[in-house]
Amino acid sequence: NETINKIAAGEVIIRPVSVVKELVENAIDAGANHISVMIEAGGKNQIVIRDNGCGIAYNEIPLAFKRHATSKLTTIDDLETINSLGFRGEALSSVSAVARVQVTTRNENEEVGSFTSFEGGMLINQRVCSYNQGTEIKVWDLFYNTPARRKHMEKDKKEEGLIRNLMNKIALSHPNIAFQVKCNGRSVLDTPGSGKVIDVVNVLYGWEEGNNLIAVDYENSPMKLGGFIGNLKMMRNHREDQIFFINGRYIKNPQLAQALDEAYMGYTMKHQHPFGIIFIELPGRMLDINIHPAKTEIKILNESLICLLFKQGIRETLRGANL
Ligand code: ADP
Ligand code: MG
Repeated sequence: NETINKIAAGEVIIRPVSVVKELVENAIDAGANHISVMIEAGGKNQIVIRDNGCGIAYNEIPLAFKRHATSKLTTIDDLETINSLGFRGEALSSVSAVARVQVTTRNENEEVGSFTSFEGGMLINQRVCSYNQGTEIKVWDLFYNTPARRKHMEKDKKEEGLIRNLMNKIALSHPNIAFQVKCNGRSVLDTPGSGKVIDVVNVLYGWEEGNNLIAVDYENSPMKLGGFIGNLKMMRNHREDQIFFINGRYIKNPQLAQALDEAYMGYTMKHQHPFGIIFIELPGRMLDINIHPAKTEIKILNESLICLLFKQGIRETLRGANL
């Protein structure tokens, strides 16, 4: 069973950023509006995630760390709307199979909290303790029992970069949550949780609407667009600042990136890429979600039509803007 867990973990937990992704998604699912992430040495030495969500009940801790244990209902409707972030019940069991883990938590309906430690997927020790409502999960010695994985981790800076990148995207798509990220004790992200995407954009890039950014607000059934695009002063020679979310979830989609570039045609020179943080809403029936938790791909059914609508939306936004 431990072997099976280790193999399963290998699918979900590939590197430190996978741990952060799973734990932060759990914190979001728990209804937290304040989430902090602290990593040491790119997450290789230690990862601590703290949230003020609903917490885990004392009696539910052992179960939460079992494979395929999920408290989240998963129906076809859930999958279609991609609202539930994690739903396979594998994250906690996978993390604890390949690292040392400590959980301190208090459930909203309980008087006292609990402290539990795991090693190699086994519960080592659980006791009650006092704690504010919410959860803190500390993960260290990642891959201590899977040397092959450990060797495959990159330099600290690279692993840290992946985590920061992930957290920036999560912060953008959850402007209502205040995120704090610290790397080796140094604050690298601190969002206000105001509910406004522009406030997160401002934290990340220092730009403001009107000055460099054009707000996108467009609807052409069945598609809705929101977010911000850059004006002509903001053109870049790379695509790193073209960030797309579909129904709140970060996705990579080269066709959309291409459509964004094309929408600026006539305004800009070739080989330039506009800045864009764009939220696309589509009915679930138009999406084919690859449910592997580590992947960021979503297949848009009838993609060429959607890209056409998208391009039209961006062009109209540009036309309405004071370029
Ligand atoms: P899943 O998220 O797919 O349900 P996980 O293994 O990630 O599976 O988590 C198992 C369960 O542990 C969750 O369903 C949830 O009930 C509980 N849980 C995990 N993390 C948290 C958290 N930060 N706050 C509250 N509950 C949590
Ligand atoms: Mg989860």
